[in-house]
Amino acid sequence: MSRQIILADGRTVEVECLSCALTSGVITPTGGVIFESKHFHVHQDVAYPIRGLVILASKRHFYGMDELTDEEQAEYISLIHKIRKEQRKRLGIDQVYYFYNEDTTHHFHLWMVPRYEWMKEFGNSVESLRPVLLHARKNMNNEENMKFVIEGINNLRDGLSDFENSSR
Ligand SMILES: [Zn+2]
Repeated sequence: MSRQIILADGRTVEVECLSCALTSGVITPTGGVIFESKHFHVHQDVAYPIRGLVILASKRHFYGMDELTDEEQAEYISLIHKIRKEQRKRLGIDQVYYFYNEDTTHHFHLWMVPRYEWMKEFGNSVESLRPVLLHARKNMNNEENMKFVIEGINNLRDGLSDFENSSR
């Protein structure tokens, strides 16, 4: 079943699965692709303008962690490790929240949400996640912050450019 999706930059697209459309290049995410390999695609959903927020999506269309192939498993953990390292090194991110749900309307994707000082008023752990994302979407969608977010995307792209992986 296809559905209409309005992107952060105002474009409307009709897709079966947004992750498939993104990872196959049918849709280019705002700010561009951060990294792409044989099995995975790294980008930011700028609808949530939080610097260093990264989405790591599989290219294959599936939902469960237990559906990853051996090759995908190996690359997945190396990629998370590398992204995390670059978030710390280039963006000074001290802590990250990881979020992944199998009942998604997209397909297999991991959210890596940096934990910033301003988020603390929304509580801790999973309870804070939704309010934090909504706050960012509602109140941080301005030109100045968007520039900061895009700069973060560019920094991470540079950082990931030397990612070594055998299956690429
Ligand atoms: Zn898909």
